[in-house]
Amino acid sequence: MSNVLVLVDHTGGTVRKTTAELLTIARRLGEPVAVYIGEGVQDALPALGQYGATKVIALTNPELTQYLVAPKAEALQQVAAKLEPAAILISSNAEGKEIAARLAVKLESGLITDAVDVQAGPVTTQSVFAGNYTVQAKVTHGTPIITVKPNAATPEAAETSPEVEEFDVTISDAAKTARITDSKPREATGRPELTEAAIIVSGGRGTGGDFGPVEAFADSLGAAVGASRAAVDSGWYPHAYQVGQTGKTVSPQLYVAAGISGAIQHRAGMQTSKTIVAINKDEEAPIFELVDFGVVGDLHKVLPTATEEVTKR
Ligand code: FAD
Repeated sequence: MSNVLVLVDHTGGTVRKTTAELLTIARRLGEPVAVYIGEGVQDALPALGQYGATKVIALTNPELTQYLVAPKAEALQQVAAKLEPAAILISSNAEGKEIAARLAVKLESGLITDAVDVQAGPVTTQSVFAGNYTVQAKVTHGTPIITVKPNAATPEAAETSPEVEEFDVTISDAAKTARITDSKPREATGRPELTEAAIIVSGGRGTGGDFGPVEAFADSLGAAVGASRAAVDSGWYPHAYQVGQTGKTVSPQLYVAAGISGAIQHRAGMQTSKTIVAINKDEEAPIFELVDFGVVGDLHKVLPTATEEVTKR
C-alpha cells in the first residue's frame, strides 16, 4: 500500500485532535506515515500509534522551529521526494495552509484546502462561496496535497507500534528569512480550541456586552466560546473567537447561537455544524431558518436556566 503523509499538529509533543482525524482519514487512502517536526516525538508516539501511524518520521533540525513556515515546507518536500507518498494531509489552520501552499509550488502538485471530507481517490468535499455550494474535487497533477478542516472525521483508533525514523533535512538560506524571536502561548482559558471543539456556544450583539451567561453555559457543557463580528467589533470578545466569513470556520457537533441574528457572513462560518440551536428574542430572526432547535426568548434568562439544568445532571 502507498504511504500517506500526515503532518503532525502538536504543542511540545502533545498531539492535537486534528492529527487523530488526519490519521483516520489517511487510513482510507493508504498507510499513514506521521511527519513530526520539533522536539518531543517520544511523548507523541502513543497518540500517533493509537490512530494507526505505521511509521513516524522525526525532523528535529532546530531551523525548522526557529523560523516561520518556509523551512517546514522545504523539509516536507525532501520527505516527499524520498517516500513518494500517494497524498499529503495537513491540518487546515493558518500555518498548515501556508505550508501546504508552499509545498504545492515546490512539488508542482495540485492543492485542495479546507476539505470537510476525504474519501478514497482521494476525492475531497469542500464548502465554497461562503457555504453556498458543496463541491467534490480531485487533484489531477502531482501528489495530492490536502488541508483538512477540524472535525472532518471522527477519530477511530487502530493501535500500531510505529517506529521512529530520524530524518535529516537541509534548509536553504532562502527559507530562513523570518526568525521567531519570541513565542508565547495564548492565555489558557481551560476551554477547548474553537475550531476543534465538539460544542460551541457563541454570543452576539444580543449579549449587550455581557458574555458571562454565554461563558457559564459553555463551561457547563465543556464547550468553546465563539462570537459574532458585531460582538468582536464592539470590543466585547477577542477577534480570535470570531466565527464567520472573516473569522473562524467551525463545524462542531453542536453550535449554540445566542443573540446572533444569522447574517450570511456569520452563517458562512458555522452552517456546517451538525446540530444548530439558536436563542433569540426576535422570532423573525434569520438564524431560525437554519436551526434544528430554536428558543424565542431573552438569552439573559434562557442561558442561566439552561446552565442550571445542565449542571444538575
Ligand atoms: P445583530 O445582527 O445586531 O443581531 C443581534 C441579534 O440579537 C438580533 O437578532 C436580536 O433579535 C438578538 N437579541 C438582542 N437582544 C437579545 C436578547 N436579550 N436575547 C436574545 N436575543 C437578543 N459577522 C460575523 O458574525 N462573522 C464574520 O466573520 C463576519 N464577516 C463579515 C464580513 C463582511 C465583508 C461583512 C460586510 C460583514 C461581516 N460580518 C460578519 C457582519 C455580519 O454582516 C453581521 O453584521 C453580524 O454577523 C451581526 O452580528 P450579530 O448577529 O451579533 O448582531
